[in-house]
Amino acid sequence: MSHSHFLRGGRIIDPDRGMDATGDVLIVGETIAAISTRRGALSPPEGAVTIDCEGMIVTPGLVDPHVHLREPGGESKETIASGAAAAILGGFTTLCCMPNTNPPIDLPSTVEFVLQRARAASGARVFPSGAATVGRRGEQLAPMGAMAKAGAVAFTDDGDCVASAGMMGKVLAVCASLDKAFMQHCQDPTLTEGGVMNAGVVSARLGLGGWPSVAEEVIIERDVRLNRIHQCRYHAQHLSAGGSVEIIRRARGTGQPVSAEASPHHLLLTDDACGTYDPVMKVNPPLRTDADIRAIIEGIVDGTITVLATDHAPHTASEKSRDFSEAPFGMIGIECALPLYMKALLDSGAIEWPRLVALLTLEPARLLGLAERGIGRLFESGPADVTVIDPNHRWTIDAQAMRSKSRNCPFHGWQVRGRAREVFVAGSRLLSAGAPAGAPQTSTHATHAN
Ligand SMILES: [Zn+2]
Repeated sequence: MSHSHFLRGGRIIDPDRGMDATGDVLIVGETIAAISTRRGALSPPEGAVTIDCEGMIVTPGLVDPHVHLREPGGESKETIASGAAAAILGGFTTLCCMPNTNPPIDLPSTVEFVLQRARAASGARVFPSGAATVGRRGEQLAPMGAMAKAGAVAFTDDGDCVASAGMMGKVLAVCASLDKAFMQHCQDPTLTEGGVMNAGVVSARLGLGGWPSVAEEVIIERDVRLNRIHQCRYHAQHLSAGGSVEIIRRARGTGQPVSAEASPHHLLLTDDACGTYDPVMKVNPPLRTDADIRAIIEGIVDGTITVLATDHAPHTASEKSRDFSEAPFGMIGIECALPLYMKALLDSGAIEWPRLVALLTLEPARLLGLAERGIGRLFESGPADVTVIDPNHRWTIDAQAMRSKSRNCPFHGWQVRGRAREVFVAGSRLLSAGAPAGAPQTSTHATHAN
């Protein structure tokens, strides 16, 4: 049994019900027993631990729909346990992990393996996405129905694009019939051969292979056309190009169930960061330009982009110390994403807290079909996944101090504001006054990956 916890006097934001008010939240066992916004109406039961939340923001546990946990096969970079623990420090209570593991997640037995490892880890909840094609090779449909039954919450060949239009049509049809989202890594591989960074003046100056924005745009344009007949929940991952935002905006305007996500590095870094040939700045899709950042933020402001996702992509130090052209693509971000989103979106005045919370909770939970299980929402009798954020906490991002097994963070050394202070998963207090809890009760973890 978990203890009872009484979160007193915080600013409670629940995007599902449009709640934004000061009040108290009572957690008993694995569920939220009560929420009250009437001062003093709720008092803690005997034995409950009271946590003063004045000046804090109390939200549903944050949901990250795009992380690479590398297990099975890449355990020197990250494991399900290390990634799920790192997530807690960042305020995330639910993760959707990508299937580009070794072997890939393209069979029900691999889905079950991930879920079993997630249950054994005592961190964030982990839900796998399944590969859409066998081996993520884009040639043959994977057994998506069987994987969905085993617990895959969405489908994607992430790391690679489903490049063939014929195969894409089949994938959209299957995902539509299963009512699962298809999440596309939007990259026409014939346009990115030899590309390692954004194609533009900086790549020309550095003599590095260019990767044009149009490689992303043509795939999204093609996919939303294909999807007119299927009406699948199509989701464009990690938008990097301003032109992509326009295509998503138009498709949503016609009523298609299309969505898109943005990542911290595509909101805050440009291809100028590649100027010192630092392989930490190498990411797929690549860092672009200020104009692209402006277009992506505009898309968030007008509701075209509804989901934030880190694309946490760990790599070992030795892999990331190769030459820029040889090093693998990817950056880690789960432990520092929250203050970076705050910096890009709140400090600039683009949006306010309630919308930021929706982009980090309800919207990704809906994408993954988890909102109906109570994830990404705060309500009485709902699962007690809760994040308490201190919006004024100032700190310096330190890759060496991260809980992740990898260190490839492009934001190392940045001074930021805002941090998760308390995190509950199914009523277990996994972050306490900013510090990871000791051994959590195992009984509450049996239900984590349900
Ligand atoms: Zn990707």
